[in-house]
Amino acid sequence: MTEQQQQRDDSACAVDLSASALPESNSNAEVFTTTIKSAEPESGFAGFGFSEALLRTLADKGYTDPSPIQKAAFPELMLGRDLVGQAQTGTGKTAAFALPLLERLESGQKTPQALVLAPTRELAMQVAESFKAYSAGHPHLKVLAVYGGTDFRSQISALRRGVDVVVGTPGRVMDHMRQGTLDTSGLRSLVLDEADEMLRMGFIDDVEWILDQLPEQRQVVLFSATMPPEIRRLSKRYLKDPAEVTIRTKDQEGKRIRQRSITVPMPHKLEALQRVLDACGGEGVIIFARTKAITLTVAETLEAGGHQVAVLNGDVPQNQRERTVERLRSGSVDILVATDVAARGLDVERIGLVINYDMPFDSEAYVHRIGRTGRAGRTGEAVLFVTPRERRFIRNLERATGQPIEAMEVPGNTAINQGRLDRLRKRLSEAAQEQRPEADEAALLQELMQRVATELELSPEQLAMAALNLAIGPDALLRKGDDDWIQNTRRNDRDRDRERNSGERRERRERPARAPEENMQRYRVEVGHRDRVKPGNLVGAIAGETGLQGRMIGRIQIFDNHSLVDLPKGMPEEVFNSLRCLKVMNRELQISQAS
Ligand code: AMP
Repeated sequence: MTEQQQQRDDSACAVDLSASALPESNSNAEVFTTTIKSAEPESGFAGFGFSEALLRTLADKGYTDPSPIQKAAFPELMLGRDLVGQAQTGTGKTAAFALPLLERLESGQKTPQALVLAPTRELAMQVAESFKAYSAGHPHLKVLAVYGGTDFRSQISALRRGVDVVVGTPGRVMDHMRQGTLDTSGLRSLVLDEADEMLRMGFIDDVEWILDQLPEQRQVVLFSATMPPEIRRLSKRYLKDPAEVTIRTKDQEGKRIRQRSITVPMPHKLEALQRVLDACGGEGVIIFARTKAITLTVAETLEAGGHQVAVLNGDVPQNQRERTVERLRSGSVDILVATDVAARGLDVERIGLVINYDMPFDSEAYVHRIGRTGRAGRTGEAVLFVTPRERRFIRNLERATGQPIEAMEVPGNTAINQGRLDRLRKRLSEAAQEQRPEADEAALLQELMQRVATELELSPEQLAMAALNLAIGPDALLRKGDDDWIQNTRRNDRDRDRERNSGERRERRERPARAPEENMQRYRVEVGHRDRVKPGNLVGAIAGETGLQGRMIGRIQIFDNHSLVDLPKGMPEEVFNSLRCLKVMNRELQISQAS
């Protein structure tokens, strides 16, 4: 591949996040902002009002220019404005909020000034690490990650010693707030990172509870890869006149690549592959496999099934690679089976379908793979094979491309036969529009047709049918017979899913958390999800009735028809009785000691 081709490859690539997100190659990305009117700073990170120490840290990290989302977010956040950002991981969104937040921290405050909520422990750790790295020039700043599944006590003593920035998962942050170990009275900024993920994971009530407890004057920043209505509602309710920043790639606008996935158990993959090719193949196809050995197995199977196939893997010498790509480009082969490395930067316009025969190593590889289709303004299809166990990774890939991956079934005979008929119709229409290049040849063929028609007394339709038979060859055009195995794998899959989901859901809903703390007693109250109750409603009502401080109220767990509330031991009887009749969400609590 020439250097020019490589450049073309980079600029035209479909949803290449690496090309869309970060400064070194951001030609693909566009910033859409409804509010930003000020002139852009001339270059780099200067001009946003950052301290010398931060500028040095960024230079040391090798950051030369802000990414599009950073350029858009810095001026707003440095002014203390609320902001809604729609951007995916890989766009530099962490630094987009972390740098202004760090710069706006005030020295000498003992209690936390900034709180970041993240959906998972991993993301919380990662964001905390980023804050630490960016605050290298301010060694006195303290950043703490708090998440479930780890020791409370060490988190409490760190909080007591004084922390400036807390990054945590909603559940654990809420626990600390309720226990009074996380003091939010001095909090000036809150970031909701990956808000749509928090919604998906069922944390949205907790997030709202936290938001309800925060000081009136605070800056709220919300980042989300997608904007479902619940997140829009949240942002309307809790953010004040926010700046809005959306990062999109050109190809996301066009949505030129339709992405689908097929769940297929390992032993059925080759059969499923042949069926997908039969139903959806046509123009050029690239099949990606993880290893050289798999490329060979796949190619041999397809060749045995009558396909013309070429292989591109690390064992193919460079000069032969170029010949192979040329054969694919010219249409002398339609199917290429390749490994990721060998197909890097491959730019062939006629690729209409990319099949991920094996799951890619990471989302970057996936984005690169599917970017081999939908080139030069054309549309393309991408099909991902996943085994039942690998299905959980699909969500990451959707986030990386910002587009949904639809589920698709292994094509049955009907879909295959439709695919075959469609291809035949296409070939016939193309042939009807083509002239034979040699005029004398065309005249001879005309004469031949007339002779056969006269000899056999054929109508034009009969003659055309004979020509079609010739083109189709001796094998049956339509596939018949048994496709039972597909039904079986579908059924097994569905059963497994149903069992797993119902089991997990039941467990999540019904399992009470670990025993209450030593000085607490667990009570049951008869309001639950069905009444749309939130922890904040219970805390507010119980605190109001009993005179308890909100932070004295311990863990609250809400189930479908009831909730569990941990309250200090030794509740006087009259207080207990008043709680029995107390109404929350229009329903009496009917409080009782939980068993
Ligand atoms: P994020 O989208 O926050 O997950 O960031 C993606 C990656 O880009 C991280 O590894 C950051 O360290 C890196 N990054 C963020 N901003 C910049 C920048 N302006 N220049 C170069 N790399 C950056």
